[in-house]
Amino acid sequence: MTPDDPLQAPLGDLPGVGPSRAAALASAGLHTVEDLLLRFPLRYEDRGHIVAIASLRPGVATVSGEVLEAEVRPTRRPRFTVFEVTVGDASGTARAVFFNQRFLAQVFRPGQQVVLHGKVEWTSLGAQFQSPQYEFVDVTALSDGDSVHTGRIVPVYERIGPLTPKLQRDLVARALDRLPESITDPLPQEARRARGLPSRREALLDTHFPPEGTSVEVLNAFRTPAQIRLILEEFVLFQLALAEQRARVVTRAKPHRVEVSEATRALARRVLPFTLTPGQKEALRDIVTDLQRPTPMNRLLQGDVGAGKTIVALLAAVVAMANGLQVVLMAPTELLAEQHARTVAARLADTPFRSVLLTGSQRSVARRDALACIASGEAQLVIGTHAVLEDPAIFNRLGLVIIDEQHRFGVGQRARLRSKGALPDVLVMTATPIPRTLTLTAYGDLDVSVIRDLPPGRQPVLTTARPEVRREEAYAFVREQVAEGRQAYVVLPIIEDSDKIDVRAAVSMEADLRAGPLAGLRLGLLHGKLKAAEKQAVMQAFVAHALDVLVTTTVIEVGVDVPNASVMIVEHAERFGLAQLHQLRGRVGRGAEQSYAILLFERPLSEDARERLKAMTDTTDGFVIAERDLAIRGPGDMFGTRQAGMPTLRIGDLRRDQDLMTEAHAMARVLMEHLPPDAVSRRLARQAWAGRFNLAQVG
Ligand code: ADP
Ligand code: MG
Repeated sequence: MTPDDPLQAPLGDLPGVGPSRAAALASAGLHTVEDLLLRFPLRYEDRGHIVAIASLRPGVATVSGEVLEAEVRPTRRPRFTVFEVTVGDASGTARAVFFNQRFLAQVFRPGQQVVLHGKVEWTSLGAQFQSPQYEFVDVTALSDGDSVHTGRIVPVYERIGPLTPKLQRDLVARALDRLPESITDPLPQEARRARGLPSRREALLDTHFPPEGTSVEVLNAFRTPAQIRLILEEFVLFQLALAEQRARVVTRAKPHRVEVSEATRALARRVLPFTLTPGQKEALRDIVTDLQRPTPMNRLLQGDVGAGKTIVALLAAVVAMANGLQVVLMAPTELLAEQHARTVAARLADTPFRSVLLTGSQRSVARRDALACIASGEAQLVIGTHAVLEDPAIFNRLGLVIIDEQHRFGVGQRARLRSKGALPDVLVMTATPIPRTLTLTAYGDLDVSVIRDLPPGRQPVLTTARPEVRREEAYAFVREQVAEGRQAYVVLPIIEDSDKIDVRAAVSMEADLRAGPLAGLRLGLLHGKLKAAEKQAVMQAFVAHALDVLVTTTVIEVGVDVPNASVMIVEHAERFGLAQLHQLRGRVGRGAEQSYAILLFERPLSEDARERLKAMTDTTDGFVIAERDLAIRGPGDMFGTRQAGMPTLRIGDLRRDQDLMTEAHAMARVLMEHLPPDAVSRRLARQAWAGRFNLAQVG
């Protein structure tokens, strides 16, 4: 953009914007003319139909007439005034009242032509407007349709401190007046033409001051061609920016080559204890195809809890190891890393490959041994927490990095991994159901494989939500299931890294259960403040069925796999997020037996909590849950962290505009293919990454 680009002019340059207004605008993040224009109205009002005063009915209406009288009326209540205006047209007169706006006496003068828009009530004195919007016009301007505040569909902006919607409308109108005939357009003409979208200039004009005949309903749904164009512009820039990020790495060839020989296939079969589901097969095919490419894989493997992602990852690892490469498998918790280490070691027993566990809490001897195995290449598969990445451990030939259950492992960390120079293939796995739009947003730089089916014989977890007063019943059910040889989880709402008080609550809860409703059963307690070895011991006892019930905090939220556990009770379920409840529930229903989840809640329930519990009892489909979660929480909260790579959006709304993000993703793909790197759109996108989308620190 040129320095004298009028869109980049500071708002202080606009007539009517002095230092204090400029400061108010800046406080809302509006610095330049472009900032102001790329801010959608909250909504639109149709003030286009001017009616004869004599035909006014109660409701919302617009009239145009002459000010006949205007005066302040004191009332009986001290300091409460009513300002009253009488307006007349050829058909009759109506009154308008404004409360406590004495200053209006300086504004309204008999003889002025005014347009009023607002709510009309019926009084003993006839039609009366209640605090209407007003605008003084000269009659000719009105007939030209040149009016800003009335006589048309008008935009209503969110108030910014002292800046009323009306004042902002004035500013926007002034800014639009000064728009030059030609402005830089990040959407190339061919792309616009294919979609029938207006130019940027036209879109700005029509978004703020819609032409006559535009539907107010469509405007308020933000789906006019002008609005769609501006939303798409933002999304396409974002998707282009992501693609630029991605182009920086995927064009570089990785240092290793992967081939799939008959011997490799035979090894893979030895690892596989069952037949893969069609979804698993397809995902594996995607991954193995990527592994064989000259450029690094960047793939997200999505699959609902229990879909069987681990085995797919392990098979991919076998392919890499068969090609002489080392593999890292990272889990978000030590508990999960240990579980993986156990199952993986068992599966690899019949192969020449060895795995080692590397965690922060390991004793130094074990750790030194593990590091030595890694350095010598004796161990081909390293399993650990994310700390592995920070470890000075030198990988001999790191070829594949698998990141399990980590939706927060964002663009930035992936970039950091690559910056270590290794250019490994990267597979990110998540069961956190993510709506497609958000996948395209937070993971737009990844290819995606989805496992939609579950291993055979799984039955949906029967889920009920019950008030706490029915706790006894719930625990009686646990006893029944245990008597039948099953195991159970009791989940407590404790935040893992919170203070000791919560831990005490967990300890006393377990004691209460032991002494009360679960007396005589074998109980174990698991929480984040236990030492790693203690945690591991408890978990192993539960896996070995030396415990009947695991009383636990959310440490078991992700990944834990004990197929014999068939009941889960969630205490204070109202305090958990929806995605979290879904993850937790995924700990049961992993075997052939019917499983149950009982969500105990305490009243009163907030509206959101009620929605969450309802979603849980309505469905076990993670993707449906994800959409509901998005609707309840909004996209910001779903990830909650900048590092997840969620952009700051000005116009687009990831809830409202999911379809447009999908479209933008496709458009950006085409643009990346056809535009040279120095094309305006691509340059703007690169600038927007750190600037407008505020994603500098994530890669
Ligand atoms: P997630 O996708 O949640 O990580 P896991 O990989 O932990 O799921 O698999 C869940 C359970 O299903 C494990 O006990 C696993 O052994 C089993 N499993 C996975 N795939 C199959 C399959 N194709 N047939 C039978 N059982 C399977
Ligand atoms: Mg898993």
